[in-house]
Amino acid sequence: MKIGFIGLGNMGAPMAANLATAGHRVTGFDLVAECPEGVSQARSAAEAAGDRDVVITMLPNGAILRRVADEILPAMRPGAVLVDCSTVEVDAARDVAGAAEAAGLGFLDAPVSGGVGGAAAGTLTFMVGGSDAAFETARPLFDIMGQKAVHCGGAGNGQAAKICNNMILGVTMIATCEAFALADKLGLDRQAMFDVVSTSSGYSWTMNAYCPAPGIGPQSPADNGYKPGFAADLMLKDLRLSQQAAEAADADTPMGQAAMALYQRFVEEEGGAGRDFSAMLPRFEGRGRG
Ligand code: NAD
Repeated sequence: MKIGFIGLGNMGAPMAANLATAGHRVTGFDLVAECPEGVSQARSAAEAAGDRDVVITMLPNGAILRRVADEILPAMRPGAVLVDCSTVEVDAARDVAGAAEAAGLGFLDAPVSGGVGGAAAGTLTFMVGGSDAAFETARPLFDIMGQKAVHCGGAGNGQAAKICNNMILGVTMIATCEAFALADKLGLDRQAMFDVVSTSSGYSWTMNAYCPAPGIGPQSPADNGYKPGFAADLMLKDLRLSQQAAEAADADTPMGQAAMALYQRFVEEEGGAGRDFSAMLPRFEGRGRG
């Protein structure tokens, strides 16, 4: 396929490189980043999007997606499909889907989980909203960039799945970290805590697969000085999106709200910016209730 790829940052560059390695003709554009090997350079987003079967965007946020969509939709070939893999507001995805449809184009919101490691290894999970036809067009590309693509329904449903998943992740990480910090104060050894919880009803992905305690459980960012991994700043972004969506939909999400407030304090006031989101454990360590 002829593919345009816009947004070649930490995630986009390895995803575009994997498509090129698999034999697709990939043309890339980024305001700052260089094209990875195998991807030819366009001079503008519109040039990257023109005359392609599929255009993929991997951008920082919804405001930028809206701006880029305004620029590229008029340049795209009728019948082509725009696949946005960024994490953005459900509303932004649905608005861009409407604009694409009006222009005779397909649109999928297809945010990912799996992080930079998954992008490089081609093992991302895609959560996809949009039509069956657009999903079938993009499916071979999801198979290259990832190990799983779940079609979640109509436009915006991929973003809905992503923010619900990450709201659970943020809440669960905090619960795991505060439990470790309590265990410390109760004199419980961290390895014993892991051995019990990871095989008991408190088990979770954050405990079993991404344990926030250094030296415990499988290798995780905690074993690498809390270098991300998945940065606390990105977790805060996703929790904000979840609370914005909850507000718009009038959904009661007290745990998501509390997790957002804690990550906001951690990132903005407590030195959490640029650290892995599991660095909540050293934040809780030694703190009292005051
Ligand atoms: P990044 O900041 O590394 O990359 C974004 C890229 O977009 C940058 O290179 C930037 O120059 C480029 N860009 C910005 N405006 C542009 C424009 N108008 N035209 C062209 N390029 C433009 O971010 P990332 O880590 O690659 O994340 C991308 C998206 O993926 C975000 O929405 C993020 O929430 C989501 N995501 C990230 C991770 C992760 O672990 N990094 C995991 C899952 C989802």
